[in-house]
Amino acid sequence: LSAKIISKLESMNGVNGPQNGQPHLDHADGQYFLTEAYKVILEEVLCKGTDVKEKVCDWHDPEELSALLDLELREGGESHHQLLQRVRDVAKYSVKTNHPRFFNQLFAGVDYHSLAGRFLTEALNTSQYTYEVAPVFVLMENVMLTKLRSMVGWPQGDGIFCPGGSVSNMYAMNVARYRAYPQVKVQGLWAVPRLAAFTSQESHYSLCKAASFLGIGLDNVFMVKVNERGCMIPEDLDEKIELARSQGAVPFLVSATSGTTIQGAFDPLDRIADICDKNKLWMHVDAAWGGSVLFSKKHKHLMKGIERADSLAWNPHKMLLAGLQCCVFLLKDNTDLLKQCHCANATYLFQQDKFYDMRMDTGDKSVQCGRKVDCLKLWLMWKAVGTEGLAERVDKVFKLARYLVREMSKREGFQLVNEPQFVNVCFWYIPPSLRGKEGNNDYQEKLSKVAPVIKERMMRKGSMMVGYQPLREKVNFFRMVIISPHISQEDMDFFLDEIERLGKDLYNAL
Ligand SMILES: *Cc1c(COP(=O)(O)O)cnc(C)c1O
Repeated sequence: LSAKIISKLESMNGVNGPQNGQPHLDHADGQYFLTEAYKVILEEVLCKGTDVKEKVCDWHDPEELSALLDLELREGGESHHQLLQRVRDVAKYSVKTNHPRFFNQLFAGVDYHSLAGRFLTEALNTSQYTYEVAPVFVLMENVMLTKLRSMVGWPQGDGIFCPGGSVSNMYAMNVARYRAYPQVKVQGLWAVPRLAAFTSQESHYSLCKAASFLGIGLDNVFMVKVNERGCMIPEDLDEKIELARSQGAVPFLVSATSGTTIQGAFDPLDRIADICDKNKLWMHVDAAWGGSVLFSKKHKHLMKGIERADSLAWNPHKMLLAGLQCCVFLLKDNTDLLKQCHCANATYLFQQDKFYDMRMDTGDKSVQCGRKVDCLKLWLMWKAVGTEGLAERVDKVFKLARYLVREMSKREGFQLVNEPQFVNVCFWYIPPSLRGKEGNNDYQEKLSKVAPVIKERMMRKGSMMVGYQPLREKVNFFRMVIISPHISQEDMDFFLDEIERLGKDLYNAL
């Protein structure tokens, strides 16, 4: 710590607020506050937040929580002491996604090097758009994109870090349309025929959002059937392409999924690539969730054929623990299509007479202006553990998922929705009162109420968090996802025990 902060620490002894007439404008005061706030973050979020003996969440209903937090903003500012209490409260009442019993989302766990990268990013507070304000990060982003592309099998190409898999999918749709009909950029939708995109019934909803946002229309996203494991059926893709043509629409894009959000299914990329080749369609792969299998020698076969795709969405903030948000959109194209599609050539940012190589100003590839730096957290983590370390993490969570499935098969009352391909373990818990009653008329209805009740109970207790959902004809089931390499077989055993503890008195109690 600097001498200035140390003297501050000594003089204030941690209790008083800033003393001068302009509180919160003094750097030393600010740095002192930050030092103290950091201690709270370390203690509450990182120590307690990763401790199995602590709660995953301290649940309160919204009115109660509003009252506890005192969120009202007032004319006057608060004291150092009060503000630290605010920091503590935010930490206390927030969900601990770093906790070993948090299985609710497709992100979980903490990587400390990545977190250091996130702190550094925030402290530097710059925008990724030009080399002049982000020299280190422009170079770093390029290296990361090249590295990730090489894992896909593209020695050349393009890409960009963007805010989310949903945005990557939208970029894919926009670039695919621009390649087919470049006049759309200037002339608008008047200049293009009715277009048709294809994706599986179990693909991410962002494809539909993209179609509506881009003026393609929800009706023109053809939902291709999946098999019992949730993988796209190529024969049905063929049929849907014919169907679209018979309706007068022009097919332009297929979005396959590597790792579907609910079931973790991998579409057969080689077969889909054959169909895209034959029909000259842009092949996008939404690997937001599953892309990280590319690190694993053992499991990357799930994405066999990926090098034949035209573009890819991949979220390292999911399985790799890079921290929200860290998402890349990668393309095989090396003709500058992404930039041509999105650029507006703003003269106040992207001056053509700059003193350095203007290709370093990558910002016009984006539809954003300011763009958050998302590469540093991944880079620092990768530097720390190496490619092998990341591969081990992926292999470890696969193993844990397999362990969980084996343990489930040994217990009565756990029924898999399907045999998992990935680390999503989808299952129904059948309480003793429903076992053997599959033939009853009200069985499905009763079963559908089990997961929501167990979920409510675990939230109120704070013991763990896991998601549930229905899927087409299937009633509510749990989706357990294993992501964090910090978790162990004991956590898996606890998970099963806890589901039993919370649900064994059902359905009698409903
Ligand atoms: C998570 C996910 C997305 C969306 O990513 P965001 O970063 O949340 O926008 C898209 N596709 C799949 C398959 C996903 O699992």
